[in-house]
Amino acid sequence: MEVEESMLERDIMVIGGGPGGYVAAIRVAQLDGKVALIEKEELGGTCLNWGCIPTKALLRGVEILDLIEGGKDYGVLAGPVTVDFAKLLARKDRAVKTLVGGVSGLMKSNGIEVIKGAARLVSPQKIEVVNAKGEKEIYQARKVILASGSVSAEIPIPGAKLPGVIDSYGALALQQIPQSMVIVGAGPIGLEFGTVYAALGAKVTVLEMLPQVLPTEDPEIAAALEKTLRRFKIQTFTGARVQNITEGTEGKLEVTAAVGGEEKVFPTQYVLMAVGRKPNVEGLGLKEAGIEFSEKGIEVNDRMETNVPGVYAIGDVTGKWLLAHYASAQGEVAAKNSLGHEMQMDERVVPRCVYTLPEVASVGLTEERAKDEGYGVKVGRFPFAANGKATILGERNGMVKIVADAKYGEILGVHILGPHATDLIGEAVVGMRLEGTTSDIGHAIHPHPTLTEAMMEAAFDVEGTAVHIPPRLSSVRRP
Ligand code: NAD
Repeated sequence: MEVEESMLERDIMVIGGGPGGYVAAIRVAQLDGKVALIEKEELGGTCLNWGCIPTKALLRGVEILDLIEGGKDYGVLAGPVTVDFAKLLARKDRAVKTLVGGVSGLMKSNGIEVIKGAARLVSPQKIEVVNAKGEKEIYQARKVILASGSVSAEIPIPGAKLPGVIDSYGALALQQIPQSMVIVGAGPIGLEFGTVYAALGAKVTVLEMLPQVLPTEDPEIAAALEKTLRRFKIQTFTGARVQNITEGTEGKLEVTAAVGGEEKVFPTQYVLMAVGRKPNVEGLGLKEAGIEFSEKGIEVNDRMETNVPGVYAIGDVTGKWLLAHYASAQGEVAAKNSLGHEMQMDERVVPRCVYTLPEVASVGLTEERAKDEGYGVKVGRFPFAANGKATILGERNGMVKIVADAKYGEILGVHILGPHATDLIGEAVVGMRLEGTTSDIGHAIHPHPTLTEAMMEAAFDVEGTAVHIPPRLSSVRRP
């Protein structure tokens, strides 16, 4: 149905209040667009309520535990340390509440109308919203931005629905520290929850189908991470295909997996399915509105436009990088284009962060991928064991690895395992966005003593000129 100009109350309506949707709404408001945001649950989406924020709050708890236990090396002796899990959960809930409240405040201060309810497109410009009481209302807008996020993926194996088989939502809802947990999938979700519960004392076993943990990350980094996970007694099995889950004895579950051609059975209290997430395309009325999508997500171009004029999609529902910061960046692109400005998504520089202890962070191409893309490649590495600040912190595991174009030294990728890797990667992100070279990073004077010096030294090591490692340990053999 053609919408009358006079009936159009709002310029833009955003469906979904996660880091994609709420950022898009703020960007629209900043450009003086009249915008409403529809959310059926809490503002902040998966990231704030069930993902990034609550998991990192739990991880901070186990990091503090780890620090206290490491205190004896510094002569700081504490009595027996115990964990009050209920208090840790309450601290996590407070962090979530504070940040959700912050988003709510930003909506108000930017003059963004928040509509509570489940939205469905009736046509490209008409949206039906059903609120918690089941009441329906129809809204109209000139343009729509779809930001409905993602849901946990499932694998169709026998026993996947047994009580005790949980997904990331279930892993956040546990009220007691489990005795044991088998985690299916060694992606970020599996390894972050694995770190939390293993550090709290659970016996954690991770089963990953592919040949390495964090299969999309640099193999050297992944192998080094796998070793450091042993510090928390996390047992990892790669090349492990889970076949079924059955009820075992003493209320336990039994996970059967083929590991390197051999069948193994893992008894456990809980099974955490961390096998990915899938775009939330259900119930949005995409078919009715004629929007092209598949199970991989809504199809968009680099302006975040769907095939239907005036309808944009951003975030996990587009099925590209399922990352909050990527969703927010897409949100800005959609907001600008929807108001007649011109902006394209820069896909080249997307950082990835995994909050294990120590952390993993990367941006750009792995060494293999760069070679596959036809680059002549040079690599530099610098171990945190040779970094002064890391030694002071007692965090000497890991390294910075830089992949550079052999011809001009342009940085193609940076991969870090180590303390504060997720903060350190910011320098690489800016460097790559400015098409910086290893010389730019290396010759920028980095403060001492800091972890950032590891980035500088890895950049120098691309040419074999890192100062704080002996020549025999350099990535470049000098004659
Ligand atoms: P993922 O896709 O990153 O990892 C899932 C893992 O499960 C893969 O390694 C896969 O090979 C493995 N797997 C699949 N089927 C299996 C089977 N039958 N047996 C054994 N292993 C199997 O997904 P995730 O860790 O669930 O995370 C979901 C999404 O959320 C990802 O896109 C991730 O990037 C994002 N996320 C990001 C962060 C972060 O940035 N820190 C944290 C959590 C989630």
